Amino acid sequence: MAIACKPKVLIADEPTTALDVTVQKEIIELLKELQKDTQMSILFISHDLTLVSELAHRVAVLYKGELIEEGETAALFKTPKHKYTKALLEARPSLDGRVKRLATVKDILDGSYSDIKISLNERAIVHKRIYTKAPLLKINNLHKTYWKNSGLFGKKEAIKAVDGVSFSVFEGETLGLVGESGCGKSTLGKTIMNIELATDGEILYKGKDITKLNKSQIAAMRKEIQIIFQDPFASLHPRMTIGQAISEPIAVHHPGSSKTKRKRQVLELLEQVGLEASYFYRYPHELSGGQRQRVGIARAIALQPKLLICDESVSALDISVQAQVLNLLNDLKEEYNFTYIFISHDLAVVKYMADQLIVMNAGKIEEAGDADEIYANPRKEYTQALINAIPKGIERL
Ligand code: ADP
Ligand code: MG
Repeated sequence: MAIACKPKVLIADEPTTALDVTVQKEIIELLKELQKDTQMSILFISHDLTLVSELAHRVAVLYKGELIEEGETAALFKTPKHKYTKALLEARPSLDGRVKRLATVKDILDGSYSDIKISLNERAIVHKRIYTKAPLLKINNLHKTYWKNSGLFGKKEAIKAVDGVSFSVFEGETLGLVGESGCGKSTLGKTIMNIELATDGEILYKGKDITKLNKSQIAAMRKEIQIIFQDPFASLHPRMTIGQAISEPIAVHHPGSSKTKRKRQVLELLEQVGLEASYFYRYPHELSGGQRQRVGIARAIALQPKLLICDESVSALDISVQAQVLNLLNDLKEEYNFTYIFISHDLAVVKYMADQLIVMNAGKIEEAGDADEIYANPRKEYTQALINAIPKGIERL
């Protein structure tokens, strides 16, 4: 639509931020081709540095409303002058090795960051503890089929969003789930939450099949399994204060609790997710994306769940805020021994977070195993393609 009038200048404001890497790559290729054909100029606005490094001839860096650095792309990435630019370059999860905490821009600017690595040995010890117990969640041959009107003689067409999936999730682990958009990740998450009803198969939570629970049993289970979405703005009521939003699930599940007690709980939760008490009276539109995501996390952990499903929870955030939220999720996990199913289309992020990894393709599991192992030696072409599609601009330079 934007190029229909043959523009001389195209302003592309985060055009691929919500897309997975493979689709993103196609859009970038398309933009490059269009530019070659039409000779238009592109102002490409993005928080994703790797992407910028692959596309732009020149880069300008904005910090607090000021243009702090500008230059030819390769030179700017190779020898950034401003310390903010340097910090931005360091804040993305690295693909080799695992650091305990991701660097945020603030850490780097303060000089307070240390890139302590998690050793293979440490990981092995943790895994030994996690994987010797019985699984917390066991999915057996799960199917979720949607029916779509195909328009032909009133016929219905089946969309097998989840198509015979089996896997286990162990207490205290982070299970990563990756795949292109539309491969069925969110449907899988929603089916586990019982937001969508399974078409067939079993979802055993602590050994009980949750597809066969009655209403009150489902309510009890809801407390233990929570979901954090990509866009907390969509799930926060615009006219409810942050305080009301976080206390809502507590009020629903503990109707006897007093208002003052609930407020105390909410204030504690705010502190845990790194928000000041004054946010209690604020409204969602007064918050930044990162702050809203913290509210989404506070709401999800309000009932002290065991299993948290993070569905693209950091996909809309810029690199530095993404690092903060990922660090927060890992801190909370340590503190409360949460179990995560971490869903993302960004393999670099999933690889950083996950113990085990499941690669999904068209509703089915393509391959599954240790996250580092799969990244190092993908057995399937599909996985290889996902890995290849991670923008590697900066490393290449
Ligand atoms: P992902 O989260 O991996 O991007 P989704 O689980 O959202 O994928 O979607 C998987 C498939 O199911 C897609 O083909 C999508 O169009 C379809 N789908 C998802 N939700 C519905 C729905 N409510 N009705 C019909 N089809 C749906
Ligand atoms: Mg999704």
